[in-house]
Amino acid sequence: MNKRNYLDFLCAIQEEKPNTMIDESAYCPFCHPESLTEILDQKDSILFVKNKFPNLSHSFQTVIIETDVCGQHIGTYSKEHMRKLIRFSIDKWLQMSKDPRFKSVLLYKNHGPLSGGSLRHAHMQIVGFEKIDYTLHLQDSFFKGPKVHESTSCFLSLSSHPMIGFIEYNIFLENVEAIDTFSDYIQQTVIYTLDHLSPPCDSFNLFFYQWHGKILCKVVPRYITSPLFLGYGIIQRSNRLEFIEKDLKAFLEDSFSAE
Ligand SMILES: [Zn+2]
Repeated sequence: MNKRNYLDFLCAIQEEKPNTMIDESAYCPFCHPESLTEILDQKDSILFVKNKFPNLSHSFQTVIIETDVCGQHIGTYSKEHMRKLIRFSIDKWLQMSKDPRFKSVLLYKNHGPLSGGSLRHAHMQIVGFEKIDYTLHLQDSFFKGPKVHESTSCFLSLSSHPMIGFIEYNIFLENVEAIDTFSDYIQQTVIYTLDHLSPPCDSFNLFFYQWHGKILCKVVPRYITSPLFLGYGIIQRSNRLEFIEKDLKAFLEDSFSAE
């Protein structure tokens, strides 16, 4: 791990940025698309825009505004809207990934007060890095663990060697034709995280990767980051993994059979 990348954070731009995570009554720019800098593309109520507050150096920052309804999120969308969102987002991400200006391109999402996000209005981010290759920090072990549920060209596993700690779900898309199933897995895992996880959890991140020619999504329930991880790099694992594996499997089977 001696080849770490460092990314310069532009503090002055951050200071101008609205924060509705701290102050719910603050102005929500995503409820006013007319004020956004540049709309790059659109699919019904889903907007792909340039980030008005680009706070990362040597980067091209964009935002996918997931819905025109403030307060709705992955846990409340119809299955159809979720599938449309994932198709659109993956498409934009793969297109940007082909741009020779970028060394690598990230697609990720913050939701909830402990996720690191500043705006409540549901959105994802696609960021092209001119100097950073995110795959440098990845290891195969971060995505290994018991398989919880499997469909054609798509499966969900639980990390036995998490990247950050505690619980991490890995959703693998082996063939892009299974993208709707991939979307259903992400949505159901988010619902499970927000409604069924113990201790209760109101925050999560989605991190998408292109790794060994496949598309992967890591769903990470967020709690306060462990001081043992921050201070010493010691990764903690939940001792309830076996229970969660069985419980999530039953939850997924129930939700898929209810269709
Ligand atoms: Zn809003």
